[in-house]
Amino acid sequence: MTDLDAFRAETRAWLEANCPPEVRGPMRSEADMIWGGRDAVFATPGHKLWLERMGARGWTAPEWPAEYGGGGLSREEAKVLASELRRLKAQPALNSFGVWMLGPALLAFGTEEQKKRFLPEIVRGEIRWCQGYSEPGAGSDLAAIQTRAEDRGDHWIVNGQKIWTSYADKADWIFCLVRTDPDAPKHLGISFVLFDMRTPGVTTRPITLISGKSPFCETFFDDVRVEKENLVGTLNRGWDVAKHLLAHERTMIGAMGEVAGGRPVGQVALDAVGATEDGRLDEPMLRARIAELEVDQAAFRLAMERVGDQVKAKQAHPAIASMLKYYGSELNKRRHELLMASGGADALEWESERSHGGASARDWLRTKANSIEGGTSEIQLNIIAKHLLQLPGA
Ligand SMILES: Cc1cc2nc3c(=O)[nH]c(=O)nc-3n(C[C@H](O)[C@H](O)[C@H](O)COP(=O)(O)OP(=O)(O)OC[C@H]3O[C@@H](n4cnc5c(N)ncnc54)[C@H](O)[C@@H]3O)c2cc1C
Repeated sequence: MTDLDAFRAETRAWLEANCPPEVRGPMRSEADMIWGGRDAVFATPGHKLWLERMGARGWTAPEWPAEYGGGGLSREEAKVLASELRRLKAQPALNSFGVWMLGPALLAFGTEEQKKRFLPEIVRGEIRWCQGYSEPGAGSDLAAIQTRAEDRGDHWIVNGQKIWTSYADKADWIFCLVRTDPDAPKHLGISFVLFDMRTPGVTTRPITLISGKSPFCETFFDDVRVEKENLVGTLNRGWDVAKHLLAHERTMIGAMGEVAGGRPVGQVALDAVGATEDGRLDEPMLRARIAELEVDQAAFRLAMERVGDQVKAKQAHPAIASMLKYYGSELNKRRHELLMASGGADALEWESERSHGGASARDWLRTKANSIEGGTSEIQLNIIAKHLLQLPGA
């Protein structure tokens, strides 16, 4: 038995013993998502246990170094863990902007003190983070941000406004882009800072969408004091940190095309349409579309795996995060289009208990935002074109 086989056997046994039944199988609704944080809310006691157990083992961030609370797993071991989690149909133990975005930026740019202070809390899901990037006049043109931080010796005073800050009203801390040198060229006067959302002067206002709800907020900073020790990376060079973080955000959004949880489209279609005598889906056009999607999903999963190895070996193409973001978003949209087509009228239900509060329709609508958040598809295509065609600005 190789070391990896032994690791698989141990992992399987541990997961069988520790993965609570409530978190096995597709999520019923958004309420099943585990976000952690100071005011964490869990759908069931099993969801809470799942975060605690996985967090204690560092398996919410399997490849981060163990000294910062991570799992300390090699790439190969992390793949085994992921496949064992898939085998159990386990729901994610933690959804976290800290794990997906801030952590990788801290590992690359943070001081030793910052890593020791923030990373273990992120792994255990104790602090919930939000992302203070976009502003009313700075979305795709992110470097146009105006929120300013004035130097007051041992601290800064931050004033300005952010928009589309997802879950800002539920977050404990924010990672935030601020302008620290208004006279420098726009990419060169930005810094990347962290602060507690309870700091006096921080307010959030939820933005209500057509559905009546929304995860988004407007976030306002009014003379907010930020300690200098919370600067990540070099003063006025926050753009480098921001871009590193964005690459992780884009890869994470793209990975949604890979399909971890959720019911397979083919199964939903079989339940709705039924099968022919030989067991095939009784709807040839739908069958062909589902087969095509499944082949593309399988290819995308392999591409993600290859890219993961290339990143580890520092051989990834500079536009790869944009490629994955673009293709993964499109794939995720296609999957949900097909789920809606397969589910028939039932899939359109909005509020009934049978449809788990309109989960299919809500998930389908949510995928529309995949091609906006983290940088729109047009912006990704621009980046890809610049790199591949070697245009100016690549
Ligand atoms: C679900 C969701 C969650 C989000 N969460 C957060 C968050 O937590 N924190 C945060 O800071 N932000 C967040 N955002 C904001 C997101 O990053 C911005 O919406 C995005 O960067 C686009 O910016 P914008 O909305 O200002 O659009 P604009 O920049 O105004 O773009 C409008 C349109 O013009 C196109 N366009 C603009 N410039 C170009 C160009 N040069 N070439 C071609 N086309 C162009 C765009 O592609 C788009 O179609 C979130 C957005 C969504 C949808």
